[in-house]
Amino acid sequence: MKIRIDLDLCQGHSVCLDEAPEIFSVEDQNDDYPKVKVLNLEPSVDLEDKVRLAARYCPNKVITLVEDDE
Ligand code: SF4
Repeated sequence: MKIRIDLDLCQGHSVCLDEAPEIFSVEDQNDDYPKVKVLNLEPSVDLEDKVRLAARYCPNKVITLVEDDE
């Protein structure tokens, strides 16, 4: 699995951080919403379910997942 992010859509809700703190961080910006930072764009298999939940529940649909068999 690979993670793609559309940073322009991110408004720092931190749902991703709640679902998968091993993979997502949310960092304050000086003059804008906080933004997600992906700590690992290719998560290990044992974290993939958490990453899928983060993508599903991100209110702004920032996170796109490319599965390995696609
Ligand atoms: S990626 Fe989605 S859930 Fe995570 S901080 Fe951005 S808007 Fe919020």
